[in-house]
Amino acid sequence: SSELERAESLIAAVPDHPSPGIVFRDLTPLFADAEAFATVVDAIAAPFAGRFDVVAGLEARGFLLAGAVALRTGTAVVPIRKAGKLPRETVAESYELEYGSATIEVHREDVPPGARVLIVDDVLATGGTLAAALRIGERLEWEVVGCGVILELDHLAGRSALGSEVVSLFRA
Ligand code: IMP
Repeated sequence: SSELERAESLIAAVPDHPSPGIVFRDLTPLFADAEAFATVVDAIAAPFAGRFDVVAGLEARGFLLAGAVALRTGTAVVPIRKAGKLPRETVAESYELEYGSATIEVHREDVPPGARVLIVDDVLATGGTLAAALRIGERLEWEVVGCGVILELDHLAGRSALGSEVVSLFRA
């Protein structure tokens, strides 16, 4: 739609960030536009309509999306956090970064086994982050209905790392 096209046009490409040769996609101008934000939130939820009861968002920009998708769809929200922030018992998974590794985790008791969960984030790059989130969902016995992202970076082929339905609104 033209609304989605306008939302896409608000994504800024920032050359050489965070290091030379990397083109960082900055979505904050999209989030900062009320209409574009509502458009992407609804477009992420639509393919999964009626199939989820919980939206799990990845720290940090995934939180912005997850809360909004949950409120628009009358569902609950749960944060998938970077290691060390959650105070109660968690299930954690690590994944490789270019330099070193990262760990994300979820409170073990926030979502009951069998819950229908949609996982959301702003950008799918290598897929390492979403793959780790899916492993957490498996260990917690979530019924993950899929992953929704605003932007998918095609050349990194992250989608092939994910054994789940993945919906992206835009590709770059
Ligand atoms: P992946 O694990 O390589 O798929 O990286 C995805 C994670 O890194 C997401 O949580 C994104 O927020 C972040 N990320 C990677 N590349 C970009 C980018 O170009 N713009 C914004 N976020 C990015």
